[in-house]
Amino acid sequence: MAIQPIRLFGDPVLRTPADPVTDFDKELRKLVKDLTDTMMDAPGAGLAAPQIGVGLRVFTYNIDDELGHLINPDLDLSADLDEEGEEGCLSFPGLTFPTPRAIRAVAKGFNMYGEPVTIEGSELMARCLQHETDHLNGVLFIDRMDVKQRKLAMKAIREAEWSGMSAPVVKVSPHATQGRAI
Ligand SMILES: [Zn+2]
Repeated sequence: MAIQPIRLFGDPVLRTPADPVTDFDKELRKLVKDLTDTMMDAPGAGLAAPQIGVGLRVFTYNIDDELGHLINPDLDLSADLDEEGEEGCLSFPGLTFPTPRAIRAVAKGFNMYGEPVTIEGSELMARCLQHETDHLNGVLFIDRMDVKQRKLAMKAIREAEWSGMSAPVVKVSPHATQGRAI
């Protein structure tokens, strides 16, 4: 088990587009294991590498007891949307909001051994594939909401007990610096 701390909204890593995986090596397999362990421990339905501070295009999912991962995903989405489905995110603990998503998605990518994989999903799986691929582009579910819903979400986020916890901590020394730079 290698459970990692999950980065919360406000952490700049969640807004940074991730790099494609080029080396399908032991390090990558460890990353997939860490993501899986962390997702299962949370527990969550999906987790993307930037959420544990790793800027690579990798995510894991656990939908209807189907556990898997995908690397360097490329999405093809249906035109019809599910406007009302509730969505949450491990980087926004305890909060869910209606978030519009395509009802069906086909994700093409690779497994951790570099073999091509295609995942077809509808409803919850489709939602998960879109949510996690967004993470790899620095996009968060609040970005997918309409203006009115986003305002409601931002209010709830500001009021959440974890809000601001990932902001940089400024430590003020109790000691005088006697003119020296610190
Ligand atoms: Zn998320």
